[in-house]
Amino acid sequence: MTNRSRRVAVLGGGITGLSAAFYLLKLAGERGEAVEVTVLEGSDRLGGRVNTLRRDGFVIERGPDSFLGRKLPMIRLAEELGLIGELTGTNPQAKKTYISRDGRLVPMPQGLVMGVPTDGDKFMQTELVSEEGKRRALQEAELSEAAGTELQEGTKSADEPVGTFLERRMGKEMVERVFEPLLAGIHAGDLYKLGLEATFPQFKRMVEEHGSLIAGTRAAQLAAAAAKEGGAARSQETPELPASVFLTFKNGLSTVIEAMEQQIRAAGGEIRLGAKVRELEASASSEGAAYRLHMLDGTVCEADQVVVTLPAYAAAELLEAHTDVNALSAIRYVSVANVVFGYDAAGFGHDLDGSGFLVPRGENRLITASTWTSAKWRHTAPENKRLIRCYVGRAGDERGVELDDEAMIAGVRGDLRDLMGLEATPEFAEITRLRHSMPQYPVGHVGAIADFRAKLARKLPGVYATGAAFAAVGLPDCVAQGKRAAEEALLGS
Ligand code: FAD
Repeated sequence: MTNRSRRVAVLGGGITGLSAAFYLLKLAGERGEAVEVTVLEGSDRLGGRVNTLRRDGFVIERGPDSFLGRKLPMIRLAEELGLIGELTGTNPQAKKTYISRDGRLVPMPQGLVMGVPTDGDKFMQTELVSEEGKRRALQEAELSEAAGTELQEGTKSADEPVGTFLERRMGKEMVERVFEPLLAGIHAGDLYKLGLEATFPQFKRMVEEHGSLIAGTRAAQLAAAAAKEGGAARSQETPELPASVFLTFKNGLSTVIEAMEQQIRAAGGEIRLGAKVRELEASASSEGAAYRLHMLDGTVCEADQVVVTLPAYAAAELLEAHTDVNALSAIRYVSVANVVFGYDAAGFGHDLDGSGFLVPRGENRLITASTWTSAKWRHTAPENKRLIRCYVGRAGDERGVELDDEAMIAGVRGDLRDLMGLEATPEFAEITRLRHSMPQYPVGHVGAIADFRAKLARKLPGVYATGAAFAAVGLPDCVAQGKRAAEEALLGS
C-alpha cells in the first residue's frame, strides 16, 4: 500500500455488511486513521433479510421481527446510533405459546426453557407429550454424559446432529413434539441434519459442565437470577431499556438499517446499490490495490481489503477461483415464505391470548408457525386492528413457498380456521417469499469454517468472510460478526 488511505470494500448491504462498514468508519475515526469504505449491495435496497413494511399504521416485518436482548452487540449498536429510546419489548400479557397436537392448540408446558423441562411437576401436567414420553424426558437428569453413544466415559464427543443428541438425552417423542417445532423453527431446519456445535453449542456445554441438560438449564436460570444485579446496572446506564427477552424497534427493524446507512454516509462511506459483484480479482501488482471487484454491470471497484458478507452460495461463487470453498458449498439454504394478514378488530372473533403457536412437522400443515403479532408486539397495529403472521416452508418441505398467492392465502387461512377457529376475513395480505434464506449448518461446520478461513487468509490476505452463513444467524450475532471483521481489517486482530 502507498501513502493513500486504505480502501475497504464491503460486499453485501445486509445487517452484517452495514455493521462492518459502520464499525470500520467508527474505529478508524477513533484511531485518527483515514479509511475509504464502499458497500457493494447487489439488490436495489439495503437490509438484506431485514425488511420492514410500514403501511396504514401497521409495522410489518417481512423478515426477522426481533432479537434476543441478552446478546449485547445489538444493544450497543443501538446505543451508538442513538436508538435506545426506540427499543420496545414484547407484551407481558401475551406470554402463552401453543403447540398443535393432532390439530388442537395445546399450551406449552410452564417451566420449559428452550424445550428443556425445569419444573418436573408442571411438566407432568402437559397434554403435549404422553406419560411415558414425559417420564423419559425427566430421566435425562440421571443419564451419564455418554449415554446413548459408543463413547467411553470421559471421552470427548465429536459433533453430531442436534436431533440425535436430543433424542438420546430426552427421547424421541420430546424431539418430535417439543424440540422440533421450537428449535428447528429458528433455522426452518431438520434437527437431524443441523450440527449441534454450530447450532446449539450451549446444549453440549451444559451436559459437559453440569452432567445433564436439566441440571445445566437450572444452573443457567440461577445464574440469570444472580445476574439480575448486573442487569440492573445495565438498565441504570440505559434506563429506557425494556425488560423483555426479545426486543425490537418501535418503527420496525429497518430503523437500525436506516440509521447505519445515514451514519455511514455521514462519515464519508460510499454505498452502491445494484452493485452485484460477479468476480473478485487478485491484483498481481504491489503498487495498486490488492483486489479488483467486477460488478455485473461492468463497473469495477478497487480495494486493499474486502469484507465478504454474502450468503454462502454467493461467497462460494466469488471465492472458488482462489480457495477451497467446500465448507461454504456444504451449507444448504432453505426457502420460507411469510404471510401476514391484517384484520379489523370488529368481528375478529378470537382473543389472541398468547404470542402464537408452533406446528410440529408431523402435523402436516402448510403453516409451520404463527405469531399473533398485534398481541405480542403492541406497536405493530392500530388499536382497532389485528395482525397475524404465518410461516410456510421448512427443510424437506419447501413446496408451499412456491404456491401462487391465491393458493397460499387459501391454505394459510384454512390452517388458521382449523387450528384457531379463526373465520374472519383479512382486510389485506402481504406475502413475502424468502428463497434460499435460512442457512443450515451441517455437522462439523465449526471446524470446516475455521479451516476455510485459515486457507482464505493464506490465499487472499486482507479478504474476510463473515455473516449469517458463518457463526450464527441471530441479528446480534450478525452485528458482532460485522464488527469483528472491521476490527480484523483495521487492527489485524
Ligand atoms: P443478508 O441479510 O442475507 O445480506 C446479504 C446481502 O448480500 C443481501 O442484501 C444480498 O442482496 C447481498 N448480495 C448477495 N449476493 C451479492 C453479490 N454477488 N454482490 C453484492 N451483494 C450481494 N434473526 C433474529 O435475530 N431474529 C429473528 O426474528 C429472525 N427471524 C428471521 C426470519 C426469517 C424469515 C429469516 C430469513 C431470517 C431470520 N433471522 C432472524 C435471521 C437474520 O435475519 C439473518 O441471519 C440476518 O438478517 C442475515 O444478515 P446478513 O447481513 O448476514 O445476510
